[in-house]
Amino acid sequence: MGKHKTIFFLLFFIFPAFSSTITFASDYRIENVKGNVYRFVADRHRSVFLVTPEGVLMTDPLNESAARWLKAEFTKRFNVPVKFVVYSHNHSDHIYETEVLKTPETTVVSHELAKQDIQLTKAATIIPEVTFKQKMAISLGDSIVELQYHGPNDGRGSISMLFYPEKVLYVVDWIVVGRMPWQNSGAMTLWA
Ligand SMILES: [Zn+2]
Repeated sequence: MGKHKTIFFLLFFIFPAFSSTITFASDYRIENVKGNVYRFVADRHRSVFLVTPEGVLMTDPLNESAARWLKAEFTKRFNVPVKFVVYSHNHSDHIYETEVLKTPETTVVSHELAKQDIQLTKAATIIPEVTFKQKMAISLGDSIVELQYHGPNDGRGSISMLFYPEKVLYVVDWIVVGRMPWQNSGAMTLWA
C-alpha cells in the first residue's frame, strides 16, 4: 500500500472573470472529505476546514455571506472556536470578510506575498498576523496542517495545505506557469 494512494487531491479552478454568479445561503453546503476535514461548497467555489476538539482551522472564507453562514454552522454543528484562518492566495473572491469569523482566539495566516498584496490593495479583509516564506506547520488538536509555497502561481503567495493524519491536499486556482490558461473556454475561438 503506497502512502500516496491515500492522498486526496482537491484542485479547484476558479476564475473570477467567469464567475459573477450571485450565491445565496441555500447554495451552501458542507461535506465531509475524510476524518476531521470538511469541504465547504459555495456555488463554484470550494474551501476546506479542519475541526478538532480545540477548534476549527478554516481556509478561505470567500465573502461576507459565506462567512456568516459558516460561522452559524460552526456553532450549530461543532461548537468550538475558530482558531486559525489560512488564506490560499491573495485573490479577493476567496479571502474577503475574515472579520466575520475572527475572534481574539483566531490567528490569520498567509504566505508573505499574499499579505503584501492585501496591504497594498487595502483589501476588505483582515491582514494576516502570521506569515511564512517557504514552509510552515500548524498544530491543532491531534492534527497538523503543512503549508508550503511552491513559487509563482495564480495570484500572489499561493500555497498548498496538507492535512494530517487525513493526507488531504488543498490548493486553489493553480495554473501551469507559461501555459495558456482557459484553453477550453470560448475565448479561444477569438484567437483561432
Ligand atoms: Zn485566484
